[in-house]
Amino acid sequence: MLKHIVLRILISAIVAGVPGAMAQQHRAPAVKSLRLYVFDCGVLKIADPGRYHLKAEEMASTDMSVACFLVAHPKGTLMWDVGVIPDSSFKPGGTGVTVEYPTSVATVAKPLASQLAAAGYVPADVTYLALSHFHYDHVANANAFAGSTWLVPKLERDLMFADPPSPRTVPAFFNALKTSKTVIIKDADYDVFGDQSVIIKSAPGHSPGHQVLFVKLPRTGPVLISGDLYHYPEERKLNRLPTTEFNADQTAASRVAIEAFLKKTGAQLWIQHDFTANAKLKKAPQYYE
Ligand SMILES: [Zn+2]
Repeated sequence: MLKHIVLRILISAIVAGVPGAMAQQHRAPAVKSLRLYVFDCGVLKIADPGRYHLKAEEMASTDMSVACFLVAHPKGTLMWDVGVIPDSSFKPGGTGVTVEYPTSVATVAKPLASQLAAAGYVPADVTYLALSHFHYDHVANANAFAGSTWLVPKLERDLMFADPPSPRTVPAFFNALKTSKTVIIKDADYDVFGDQSVIIKSAPGHSPGHQVLFVKLPRTGPVLISGDLYHYPEERKLNRLPTTEFNADQTAASRVAIEAFLKKTGAQLWIQHDFTANAKLKKAPQYYE
């Protein structure tokens, strides 16, 4: 059964990589100041919170949100993480899609492309694509952004195209990125638009090239988007590390560095998988500015 589902996703993900003719006509809305859009990219049911060194009774919820983000800057746009189920898995007129993965059951209510469209964007408008990391629940619609410039650390890109592939991802979700225009991120801080307002920060450990996103919003104030530096808020509160980190010592060091950065900047931390906190964020087409 699972094999069938995965195969179906693989096939539809390949189809999703072909941009529509209409997309090439579209022009992204111009913005005068920075905006941050949050998209609902689904929910994960997690069978075993023990993988995070947590017990269900210690937690507000064992469910995880899956969030995707678009940063709109006067100089261009950045897509950050692209979901757990490709849009191509939705049937026309269908309601939601549920897929069983090895460590979770994912449900997505609305395709990412329709949420982007409601905010005035099509994938072909997006200037830059960056992924917090390569795991299956962050990359599902990556092929749709193969026309964007991909911002990625070398270690992460190497792992994504490793042979044999890592079992923690689905290569067909992102194989079109192999020939994308690519910028290899070499520095710990990568200033996306050159004005210090949007910075990709290295935070390795969960994966070799794991990264987080700092967005300095003019009204909301600074926000740091976590990737999977933490999954559950209880990991932060109770100081627990997942059992399946690529390098747990590195994760611990990244957490110390990022906590110091949060203190210095006064930034809010948005934990992408924090079900309760994510539910309270306003979703596109509304935005933070
Ligand atoms: Zn994740």
